[in-house]
Amino acid sequence: ARTLAAQPLAIITGASSGIGAATARALSDLGHPLLLLARRVERTEALGLPNALARSVDVTDAKEVAAAVREAEELYGHADLIVNNAGVMLLGEVAHQDAAEWERMFDVNVRGLLHGVRAVLPGMIERGSGTIVNVSSVAGRRTYANHTVYSGSKFAVHGMSESLREEVSGHGVRVITIAPGAVETELLSHTTDEAVKADYQAFKDSIEVLVPEDVAAAITFAYQQPQRVTLRELVLAATAQA
Ligand code: NDP
Repeated sequence: ARTLAAQPLAIITGASSGIGAATARALSDLGHPLLLLARRVERTEALGLPNALARSVDVTDAKEVAAAVREAEELYGHADLIVNNAGVMLLGEVAHQDAAEWERMFDVNVRGLLHGVRAVLPGMIERGSGTIVNVSSVAGRRTYANHTVYSGSKFAVHGMSESLREEVSGHGVRVITIAPGAVETELLSHTTDEAVKADYQAFKDSIEVLVPEDVAAAITFAYQQPQRVTLRELVLAATAQA
């Protein structure tokens, strides 16, 4: 049975935490039915949002992503927005870091993002309308020590987003890159190099960093522009971040 909602379906990957969870709340407040994707489905369910389908999906699995999108579109109608936000940051020194961590970052941040794009893009092109928001980072436009592979994955996000925007501009589909500076989330907790992690934590503790709601506000601001307007790239960082 299809649920009638005033706003179209919005999809958020990595909705179980941080920026993704804040974006889910913001889009829900605007009346959108949601598809919330993350591996920890108990956390997306715990957000308690109305008209929200939560599915345990690993974005590195294209079939899982596509199946969840189909299921949500049957419930709520076509997806007008996807926020490709799922990501991992495993900081480290290239001389020592386990290569499995490099693979993980490219798998989730780059390949996983493409799976989100592919699941919605043909429908958006067919309808001649839709918005794809890709979450990159300031580390996707400049470099930092110990960020080599993370930064490489986010430069890829920036490059792919801009190229895709050019590819689909004639089809009415918007592609928006969001590039935040440091935000208080769980992101750093997955870094396994304790010294590098402590360094970055000290930097975060030394200034007032962004909160996830700041990034969610930028995403909804960009999305709420008229369809003829594409905010191609939004870079936002704490005022105190140099
Ligand atoms: P969090 O660690 O708080 O959230 C990351 C989200 O990604 C979680 O919901 C997690 O869900 C999800 N995720 C990770 N791996 C997978 C996977 N394989 N399949 C599905 N979902 C996955 O970090 P943030 O909120 O900070 O990060 C969100 C995005 O923002 C990332 O792309 C990050 O690179 C970017 N960013 C963050 C900045 C910061 O300082 N925090 C700065 C700039 C950019 P689960 O584990 O349940 O699967």
